[in-house]
Amino acid sequence: MPAVNVRAVFGHAAASLEGVRADVGVDRPAKVSQLADLYVRDVVFDEPIVTSDGIALGGHHTLTVRRDGSYRYQGYFRATGYPSYEVAMVTTLGYQIPVPGAQPGTGQLAFAVHGRVVGTDIFSSGDQEYHWDESGHSPLLQTQWSGVRHGQFQHRLEYDTDWFGAAGGVVNFVAQAVALGSTLGAAGVAIVVAGTAADQFDLEQLVIPGLVGIAMAGGAAYVFGPGAMFPAFLIGAVATAALIKQRHLRDEERAFADRVFRGRVPFDRVLLTNLVGLGGVAFTAPGPGGAILVNLGEGYENPTTYTGRGGSETGKKAPGQLLIHELTHAWQIANESFTPEYYCRALPTAVGSAGGDMSAYEYGPPYDGWRSFGTEAQASIVADWFGGSRNPDGGHQRGYPPMHDSDKEPNPYFRYIRDNIRTGIA
Ligand SMILES: [Zn+2]
Repeated sequence: MPAVNVRAVFGHAAASLEGVRADVGVDRPAKVSQLADLYVRDVVFDEPIVTSDGIALGGHHTLTVRRDGSYRYQGYFRATGYPSYEVAMVTTLGYQIPVPGAQPGTGQLAFAVHGRVVGTDIFSSGDQEYHWDESGHSPLLQTQWSGVRHGQFQHRLEYDTDWFGAAGGVVNFVAQAVALGSTLGAAGVAIVVAGTAADQFDLEQLVIPGLVGIAMAGGAAYVFGPGAMFPAFLIGAVATAALIKQRHLRDEERAFADRVFRGRVPFDRVLLTNLVGLGGVAFTAPGPGGAILVNLGEGYENPTTYTGRGGSETGKKAPGQLLIHELTHAWQIANESFTPEYYCRALPTAVGSAGGDMSAYEYGPPYDGWRSFGTEAQASIVADWFGGSRNPDGGHQRGYPPMHDSDKEPNPYFRYIRDNIRTGIA
């Protein structure tokens, strides 16, 4: 029997194999190899498309998702009687995103399909059926696989409409996807726009004047990048366009950050906002047109002296440490060829908080190469090196002064700052 690399197969779920056993529905005692086979198996969502009485229109659709984050969405509409129809449909796969210490969020893989089917009406000509078959890949499906496996397949069909033809059609599409996601009762809906919808997704239509990569849709604020939208919030207020702020780093803030990054973060692409993500914490995401959106919440005004994690609670980190953590993600976006769609998806509100999965932020001893660490671990290494003994948050580097780079009792993690961060070698 081949050995199973538990970490590689189960990811974060490996924290509890018993949890995986319950998740895949296998009785005790269960072999790890058996759990692995079930856990990585393709999941197929399959459903007929039916319309109410008197509408001569039907069809079928199937979504297959795989452990590696790839998906395939296939289906057809068919006119079954006299009339012809212009059909538009939004389909979503909704799944829960656990947020340590807070209400879970929802992830949505959202597809749009529209086509024309022709009935037996002798004055029209064209096909009775409209088929589609779209394949793609999303890193979010991969990282959130444990929720995706139990996803909820939903669709909303309209006929004799054309969402993408009229002005505001994209806003309508997003609002439809949000509405389908809200039935899962979550704090916010992160949307991956998939298939042809991604091609038709005209981001310009969603932009709030003067703000890059921020949209209001379905009554909520979103930070968006290429092909994905993330729910965003203001601390202590309902997010409205008038309250959302965005700016570049000031000269003195660039100088502050460059004590760590030495010119390897493209500051002209970095835009700070006062938004936070699910769970009320800071996050970073690639935005449209090469922008990098660093969402600092309450740390927005004075990021070099702020000591919180995005919320109003302070004293959690060394002054400026959150900015350095998030700018390490900006460094990753700028220096790596492949990047996840967003960062800090699960920054816990307290170390070891009940139910919180801290594993993504933990890192081991400084023996292996930079690439052996995940993106969150890398950001923690840099931010902990920056904070050193001033970091109230624990971590492996509290025994060293902040930004310790001398040869006397060297901080062994400094090698990554010197050899990777400051050289741009990802
Ligand atoms: Zn992070």
